[in-house]
Amino acid sequence: MSISEIRVYSIPLAAKSTYNMSNSTVTTPMSTIVEVVDADGTIGYGEACMASPQFQPAHNAGIVSSLSVLAPSIIGLDPTKLTVVNAAMSSAMTGHTEGKAALDIACWDLMGKKLDMSIVDLLGGARMTDVVTYHVVGIGSPEYAAGEAERLQNEGITRIQLKAGGRSIHDDIESIHAVADVLRPGTDLAVDTNRGWSTAEAIHVSAACSNITMSMEQPCATEAELHTVKAHGHHPIVVDENSTDIGAVARMISSGLADGFGLKITRLGGLTAMRAVRDLCMATRTPMSSDDAWGGDIIAAAGVALGATLDPQFSRGAWIAHPYHQTHYDEENGPRIDDGFVTMPSGGAGLGLQITEGQFGDPVAVYR
Ligand SMILES: [Mg+2]
Repeated sequence: MSISEIRVYSIPLAAKSTYNMSNSTVTTPMSTIVEVVDADGTIGYGEACMASPQFQPAHNAGIVSSLSVLAPSIIGLDPTKLTVVNAAMSSAMTGHTEGKAALDIACWDLMGKKLDMSIVDLLGGARMTDVVTYHVVGIGSPEYAAGEAERLQNEGITRIQLKAGGRSIHDDIESIHAVADVLRPGTDLAVDTNRGWSTAEAIHVSAACSNITMSMEQPCATEAELHTVKAHGHHPIVVDENSTDIGAVARMISSGLADGFGLKITRLGGLTAMRAVRDLCMATRTPMSSDDAWGGDIIAAAGVALGATLDPQFSRGAWIAHPYHQTHYDEENGPRIDDGFVTMPSGGAGLGLQITEGQFGDPVAVYR
């Protein structure tokens, strides 16, 4: 087996309605899709897509550009030797984990197709058949937030992530209380600012909401600020944007900072890196989610595959972007949300998707 060709595609995934975060509004992110082709013609698929360039140091045009360095570095390698593949990409380029992740995921898909195994089984096997998911309520008025929370609970969602930040904290506090007032027993609330508050603002909000059971996800920009909030706040801290690699995750577990993680496959560099972080989190009884920033069926299938292998007690679930853009690459088999859970793709080996060669149109780049 050897990688003979890599084709790159750029696909628009427009948000179907307003999706506001503390520092950005999602419009039409361009998703990067890679086809990694084995010498026998078998194709593995990978994907990376940032919702917006503001909340982490990556953007979609940069992902396409990084592949001009990364893709040639793995041509000729055996796609099943993922340690070798990842070492070659690391040697070729520092950082740019999103492009690396797309190629790494495609190699996992190829390996699954070669061995006639699902990625879930390659990752060790499912601990659950359907994976719990959470739904985002974007920044808006207290009435909007409470209405969304009601609607989502009616649809079976039991985990709500309320976006906050980028405005007066008094507006955020009102929205948090409005949502808390309509929460039903069994529904979890996380308030996520995507790095949006100062330490003083985060501590103030935590005090004003001290009677509400919730977690605070990435309330401030830096790890040092999160330590301050942890020391003076009332709520568990979930780390998202600062969980950049296994070293950072290990440090934030051992220091006692992180009560959980919101992990993104593309930020960590792919399923190979995510598997190692999963093992660390499960061994230390640290809850985590298996998410990504945005994207279609390919990255969603990768996220739910790893999510299915988590110990259910320490799973924060898997988030997929599908409800927010409604674009599908595989209408029949792609991961879908039903009654608060993501169903596993059912289309065979690898990621479990049936994608037709040529359905993404003309590639924006081809490497051989
Ligand atoms: Mg987050």
